[in-house]
Amino acid sequence: MSDSKRILIIEDERDLAELVALNLERAGYEPHQAHDGRSGLARAGEIVPDLILLDIMLPELTGIEVAQRLRVDPATAGIPIIMLTAKATEADEVVGLTAGADDYVTKPFSLGVLLARIETVLRRSQAAEPRSAELRAGPVEIRTDTHRVTVDNEEVKLTLTEFRLLACLIEGRGTVLSRKELMRRAIGPGVRVTPRTIDVHVTALRRKLGEAGGMIETVRGVGYRIEQPASTGTAT
Ligand code: CA
Repeated sequence: MSDSKRILIIEDERDLAELVALNLERAGYEPHQAHDGRSGLARAGEIVPDLILLDIMLPELTGIEVAQRLRVDPATAGIPIIMLTAKATEADEVVGLTAGADDYVTKPFSLGVLLARIETVLRRSQAAEPRSAELRAGPVEIRTDTHRVTVDNEEVKLTLTEFRLLACLIEGRGTVLSRKELMRRAIGPGVRVTPRTIDVHVTALRRKLGEAGGMIETVRGVGYRIEQPASTGTAT
């Protein structure tokens, strides 16, 4: 079948990645592999898979970082993620789910269990609207799929960094995000910026949002947060 679901496996243990790929292929999926966080992220952007199997302990970028970035990028925000965790500790579960994973599987796992989880997550994601396609905070509405931002239904033009900042803040649902966190998520690594850079972008963002910009609250010495939005539009 030409419409087989693409599944990207981001896993540094090559034998495991290979084994999973083989079994996915047998089950009728189209598997793709990446063996570190950075190339996995790049591959996800290239092929926009239907689902990602994401190991947490990865070289280059951890699985958590990969998940966070996938969620911020409009092109990949809706892709369901199943985390592969080495330890069944609660911390892993919490961290994995907070980072935007849809499910997790603890290693060592049986391939039967993995395939069943994949089926469930794919079915759920098909039933739902694209995840986080629409985010809202008060009069501000953003569409992560089309990159459109409106305030009281009036379109506002933002730069990509401003857009990502706003998406991070709204997704944070009232939690305080540090400048460092915002830099990492909205600007990305490898770009030399100072915390002051974030302040500049936030100032510009506030101005463009007009009165609604007042919702972005400065938390002295820490970072920023946005007032709890009434609804995020996330399907449950
Ligand atoms: Ca690993």
